[in-house]
Amino acid sequence: MVLDVSSLKLTLGIVALTLSILFFSSFRRTRSPYSGWWCLALGLLMAGNIMYLMTGTPQQVWANPAGNALLVAGAFSVWAGSRSLRLRPTPRWLLLSGPAFTAVSAAIENPGSDAWAGGFVYLLMMTAGMALATRELALLRTTDYQAHRELALAAGILAGYYLLRACVYTIEGPEGPVFTTYFSSAFTSMLTIVMLVTVSFSMTALSNEQLIARLNERASRDGLTGLLNHTTFMEQAAQEVRRLHNAGSVSTVILADLDNFKAINDAHGHAVGDTAIRAFAAACRAAIRHTDLAGRYGGEEFVVLLPGAGHESARVIAEAINRNLAAAEPPEGVSFPTVSYGIATTTAGDLAETIGAADGALYEAKRLGRNRIVTARLPKR
Ligand code: GH3
Ligand code: MG
Ligand code: MG
Repeated sequence: MVLDVSSLKLTLGIVALTLSILFFSSFRRTRSPYSGWWCLALGLLMAGNIMYLMTGTPQQVWANPAGNALLVAGAFSVWAGSRSLRLRPTPRWLLLSGPAFTAVSAAIENPGSDAWAGGFVYLLMMTAGMALATRELALLRTTDYQAHRELALAAGILAGYYLLRACVYTIEGPEGPVFTTYFSSAFTSMLTIVMLVTVSFSMTALSNEQLIARLNERASRDGLTGLLNHTTFMEQAAQEVRRLHNAGSVSTVILADLDNFKAINDAHGHAVGDTAIRAFAAACRAAIRHTDLAGRYGGEEFVVLLPGAGHESARVIAEAINRNLAAAEPPEGVSFPTVSYGIATTTAGDLAETIGAADGALYEAKRLGRNRIVTARLPKR
């Protein structure tokens, strides 16, 4: 059976067009970056195949290099999309360099008469784009995503196929018997159609997962400060305290309350009050380790959990927060408030009890005149 290349390329173009329209509407709804990249990749694949329809016409001289470059841009978009799942941006110059290199190497190899001009670089770049995408998808954490495994497999198969294609192309050229049987444009088009349908199916699941991950992240944060909100802090901290207690270790809680904060609101307005709250949150973030948890306990009160740390380390952290806040630039005519801290270390692996003890120490700090750090005495057991 001889496969008709033009019909297959046309079919591939129509499949890609249909899928890109479907994904575009999904992208508009969900704003999932991966949908956006996938949509772009499909559009580029379609445009590249339209270029190839001009093979054998006088337009071939520019259409073939352009087709190669568009397909490589498509493969690189799949890579950028996979990176977006790991919240990693891809520099634009890196995305453009592959297609540009492909176009130039085809353009300098007589593309008017040779339909395979620049073929080796094209096949190598396709392999690189798909291999990089496979790597990103394989590195995704399974706790966030499930559907990525099928995608990694599909991308890996395509990367392997293009690598084999490049090898056979190098050994026997585009007219060789193995290349024309297994790696011709017709066979590749058919394989690509199958892959597109498979990948699009998993993609829908994945962009939903991406949306849910983003919503979860947003729902766990306090809007003003970006710190954990009360509910999420309590959930995560309780789990951490229990885990450490079972492992025979302690955790320490710092409760912080901005001093005479109401006076700042009254004197300068609520917006300036918000600036002070954000400045405290930034000072706090800069003082803790990434394994510590910091949350907005409510209003102008904050809570920090230091897993594995004792009250002495907590005091050092509270002092660092104060230093960071003192170094922050307040709005003109305003000075940021001082802060009172209450510190307590877990005794029984119970978060609520520890926060209660820290709250008692904080109350004591206020009573003693504010702007100080007080450590709760350990209850005698
Ligand atoms: P103390 O030193 O005893 O803590 O005095 P205080 O004035 O800081 O405490 P009080 O509890 O009397 O007042 C807290 C104020 O914080 C009252 C409330 O309007 C203000 N507040 C709570 N949340 C926000 C917020 O998100 N933005 C702003 N600007 N103010 C807030
Ligand atoms: Mg206060
Ligand atoms: Mg308060």
